Amino acid sequence: MSQQPFLRLDDVHKRYRLGETVVHALRGVSFDLQQGAFTALVGPSGSGKSTLLNLVGCLDEPDSGRVLLQGNDVSRLSDNERSRLRNQHIGFIFQSFNLVPVLDVYENVELPLLINPKVSAGERAERVLQAIRDVELEPQLRHLPDKLSGGQRQRVAIARALVTHPLLVVADEPTANLDSGTTHRLIDLLLELNDKRKVTFLFSTHDEKLMARVAHVLHLKDGALPS
Ligand code: ADP
Ligand code: MG
Repeated sequence: MSQQPFLRLDDVHKRYRLGETVVHALRGVSFDLQQGAFTALVGPSGSGKSTLLNLVGCLDEPDSGRVLLQGNDVSRLSDNERSRLRNQHIGFIFQSFNLVPVLDVYENVELPLLINPKVSAGERAERVLQAIRDVELEPQLRHLPDKLSGGQRQRVAIARALVTHPLLVVADEPTANLDSGTTHRLIDLLLELNDKRKVTFLFSTHDEKLMARVAHVLHLKDGALPS
């Protein structure tokens, strides 16, 4: 028997309706990811990258086809089960960082743990500090986001994504707003975390420099992965 993949997409379709027009954003996408994979999803603007990441991250559901996480069809879960899966096992990193401006670095990273009743206050503090150390932001612990550089803000977002100890981290163009030096340091950090924490990473990009550093690349074109 072959080993069950960590993540499997099986003939996934997604359409958006805009008044009279229907946009067929994903047209039968299938692929497998193994646990611990570090994978870039590459394609021009409008090719369906964000749509695909939203499905993988359980933020949205396919019209047809299946998204299987550790063999479980995520679209068969109830809304509650799906939000629990999302909150406890999936981390997100967005292009625009999405930090809460009135919260400092520590508080931003702590946020996802506050909605997880299983983590005690003591363990929460330990995990927050560890995540902040992992992204080397301890000196900025009490800084508000507007006192940080773009690269530092994105590192806060990474710490926030990792603090729940997720199985999977999904990142939508995480380096799009960063200069090239910062981009390279950020990719070093993601590769190190992938190696050290064995977190599975799936991120979209159209940055050629970034693709060159990733062994596994999926090329999305007009909502499909041409072989
Ligand atoms: P990418 O992230 O690669 O730029 P998207 O997944 O955002 O691609 O978009 C794929 C296609 O779906 C595009 O044609 C886009 O205009 C369309 N689309 C994305 N989101 C929506 C939406 N909420 N409503 C209508 N059309 C959408
Ligand atoms: Mg996008």
